[in-house]
Amino acid sequence: MSDAERYKCPFCGGTFEFDIKTQKLKCPFCDSVLSQEEYDTMAENKKSKNNVDIKDGATELDKDPETGEDIENKDQATYVCKSCGGAITPALTSISEKCPFCGSPIILTNKIKDAQPDVIIPFKLDLKAVQEAYTKHITTKSFVPKSFATTATKNEIHSVYVPFWLLSCKADGEVNFAAKNIRTERIADRKIVYSDHYSVFRHSKMDFNDIPADASSEMDDSLMDSIEPFNTLEALDFKTAYLSGYDAQKYDVNFDDLYPRFEKRLVQSFLTTVRNNIGNYDRIEIKNYNIEFNDREIKYALFPIWIVKNTWNGEDFIFAMNGQTGKMVGNLPTSWGKFFLSSFLSSFLFLIVTYIAMCYFLEGEEQSVIWGVSYFLAIVISLVVHFCMISDHSNVSSAVEAQSYLDFESFHNLKESDKYTHTTKTEERIK
Ligand SMILES: [Zn+2]
Ligand SMILES: [Zn+2]
Repeated sequence: MSDAERYKCPFCGGTFEFDIKTQKLKCPFCDSVLSQEEYDTMAENKKSKNNVDIKDGATELDKDPETGEDIENKDQATYVCKSCGGAITPALTSISEKCPFCGSPIILTNKIKDAQPDVIIPFKLDLKAVQEAYTKHITTKSFVPKSFATTATKNEIHSVYVPFWLLSCKADGEVNFAAKNIRTERIADRKIVYSDHYSVFRHSKMDFNDIPADASSEMDDSLMDSIEPFNTLEALDFKTAYLSGYDAQKYDVNFDDLYPRFEKRLVQSFLTTVRNNIGNYDRIEIKNYNIEFNDREIKYALFPIWIVKNTWNGEDFIFAMNGQTGKMVGNLPTSWGKFFLSSFLSSFLFLIVTYIAMCYFLEGEEQSVIWGVSYFLAIVISLVVHFCMISDHSNVSSAVEAQSYLDFESFHNLKESDKYTHTTKTEERIK
């Protein structure tokens, strides 16, 4: 077996790449299309008949080509490309890339052998889709600086299979809540508020399937969380053919090191689900809980991601698109000049409304006071509206729950108890 594979085209000598449209291997030179199974059968036949390994992509060097000494650091391997003879030294985490000299796709099979992914979601969306999604993302927001949009053509776009750990588990937990129902009564000029307090307990169970967390230290965790969810029902058994022509990374963060990220999301989703199904109370507060996550099933997966890099005013802006669903995320800059000018101009529209309102509420006050208060309120309202308008400039944040991965059918309460404890009473005088 060779150290690195390529899917050399037996018809024209080019190299097959994974084709998004057909979801098969396609030669970009002669347009031949083959499935991995068809290719492997053909390659095996060639090997047994002519003793030629057309899948041989590169050889890992044992000795440094310059000094002739043995290479001791086996992780930082150097390969010789079988297409052009160039020496390639891939990044430590790289398991698939293109030869920087001849562009031939190379899959570093000896690095994959040490850590073989269980599943992969192949790319579903191509370069055109990411360009369209990116343009839409930056041009449909209200206060993105014009110069930012015009540099959109100069950005760097690349596709990469990012390593993820997927966790499935069964959650079993007990939660104590303090709940209350509120009744009010009016007697003459007094309002009496009664709060009936309950001590609520639930012992519940629920299952979670394939919660993802990226296992690459290079990738920004919040960016990867923000392009969720992935539909793992479409995940396929891993095959190297899906990588041909694409960059791919292997994990460099262990599952155990990521576990706190999973646990935080699991706890939050468990509590939210139990709380939302507790019944009718006016107020519910979580007092304490004890949850266990058992029957853990861990998968190592590769997911398709498009990354767009843009530099603007000396600052880097990184966007990511889910290569399966097309969800595009990335924080955008705000043009504060446009923002405050628009807030100022819009405040005159709000002034009409606030002035009418103040004439009613501040009846009898001097006109200068009414105008002053009205104008202050108009500015405040306009700023609040404008801040709401730019809230969609920032859509990158770390995941706090795992609701998309909850199997709701599995949710049930093993034990429920709702105990009335006492009633408190407060009184207010109504003016
Ligand atoms: Zn070909
Ligand atoms: Zn090459």
